[in-house]
Amino acid sequence: VNYQTVLNEIIEEVQPSLTRGKVANYIPMLAAVPATKFGMAVQSMDGETFKVGDADEAFSIQSISKLYTLTLALKDQRRALWKRVGREPSGTPFNSLVQLEYENGIPRNPFINAGAIVIADIVRSRVADCRRALLEFVRARSDNTAIENNSEVARSERETGFRNVALANFIKSFGNIDNVVDEVLDFYFYQCSLEMSCVDLAKSVFFLANGGNCPWSGEAVLNPRQTKRINAVMLTCGTYDAVGDFAFRVGMPGKSGVGGGIVAVIPNRLSVAVWSPGLNAHGNSLAGTLALELLTTKTGISIF
Ligand code: GLN
Repeated sequence: VNYQTVLNEIIEEVQPSLTRGKVANYIPMLAAVPATKFGMAVQSMDGETFKVGDADEAFSIQSISKLYTLTLALKDQRRALWKRVGREPSGTPFNSLVQLEYENGIPRNPFINAGAIVIADIVRSRVADCRRALLEFVRARSDNTAIENNSEVARSERETGFRNVALANFIKSFGNIDNVVDEVLDFYFYQCSLEMSCVDLAKSVFFLANGGNCPWSGEAVLNPRQTKRINAVMLTCGTYDAVGDFAFRVGMPGKSGVGGGIVAVIPNRLSVAVWSPGLNAHGNSLAGTLALELLTTKTGISIF
């Protein structure tokens, strides 16, 4: 497969869709990003990176960070983790509160906000300097020591994050958060404010296509079994209440963020990241989803 040719075709074909989505506007720094941005990067098994458009421009990764914190939590918590957070699709929006009361403060999965807040609590309990550990983790996975967070984004997330504050307090009332709520949320808002490019993102999740091994750091990040599990949870929960449609159209496990980024993997074939800030009604990148659909359609490879 000539990935470069495919990417060149995709960027042309998505152009009419770029302005069909709605750029997130709950904080000023996300609202200011032009809807016309588009980047895509593919990392292949033989170590080549293919890219197109704004693939080197860093943007707010938002909920894609939930993948990294889950990986960190899974590394040392293993089975105990699944007592505190489920692994079923929620069928509700990413920031929904409704299931939590019926289900006694156990979030449906680690990729909705409620679940990611529990995961943030787990990481915070286990790792002394969790921000530093997360930053070092993404830098090592992306092979890029220049990755930083945007503190202004983190601050606005905190100022406007009323639902996340509600979620965290509600979960705490069921005893499923150990740390001080504010400290857990600080870490959660920090992870959302990391900024990475499509190239960084495609490389960062390559270990999930590669049996858990990260070639540039030489580390076994996860074992093959844990890798299989994360990919399964991505497939069933990574794009919120659009997860069925995403699997149907794209045919890859993927994780999205409201910054307009999506990462996806095909085990033993490739990892990919796409960025287009305009979102669909479920908070997933509209043209990004289309671009991934085109990738699997044009190359004829998917997980199915
Ligand atoms: N910062 C956002 C929030 O917590 C992240 C949500 C997302 O990317 N889906 O609401």
